[in-house]
Amino acid sequence: MAGLRVLVVEDEPTLARLVARALTEDGSDVRVVHDGQLGLKSALAEPPDVVVLDLMLPRLDGIALCRELRRLASPSGILMLTARDAVPDRVRGLDAGADDYLVKPFALDELLARVRAVARRTGGGGTLRVDDLVLDADRRTVNRAGSAVQLSPTEFRLLEHLVRNAGRVVAKERLLERVWGDETEATENVVETYIHYLRTKLDRPPAKPLIHTVRGAGYILRS
Ligand code: CA
Repeated sequence: MAGLRVLVVEDEPTLARLVARALTEDGSDVRVVHDGQLGLKSALAEPPDVVVLDLMLPRLDGIALCRELRRLASPSGILMLTARDAVPDRVRGLDAGADDYLVKPFALDELLARVRAVARRTGGGGTLRVDDLVLDADRRTVNRAGSAVQLSPTEFRLLEHLVRNAGRVVAKERLLERVWGDETEATENVVETYIHYLRTKLDRPPAKPLIHTVRGAGYILRS
């Protein structure tokens, strides 16, 4: 899941660095702060998709920070890091509004998997990238190779669904259901028509095509 915005709030410099590096290599856009006050400020100023939040922090601890974000209806997913496998800590974290927790020490792969899972669950992914295509789900904008692409609301929803499933084949039936709704009377032909519109706007030569037809199966977005 590329293009996630992740805020790491961790006061232990070595661990913060390791976590930040792993997330960056995984394609995320990472910010790191080392205390709870700065964490809160940063999370509110520019809400990330996921906050990786240490429990024990100077100035404002992880539980208080988590409560504050939830009180202010922050849209960010929260993955709490706890040093102890003590049940009360986990319960307190989840009670405070964390979406998941991870007990230290942890494998970095596990952290990446948890961050992705939290982002998926909380509908995160403000800026999504596939090759030179950038879709900003918050601002509803699309760029290809640095140029803005104007899409209708339906085209945008269709593209967003393909981008969120990049690298996977998505059936026409599924696209119809997700973009036009369960109750639609439209048929799969409308999906074909809109895929054609998207290709005309996005995949114009010399850009290499990103939307591929998989015969009898559906469509896949990939570079
Ligand atoms: Ca700590």
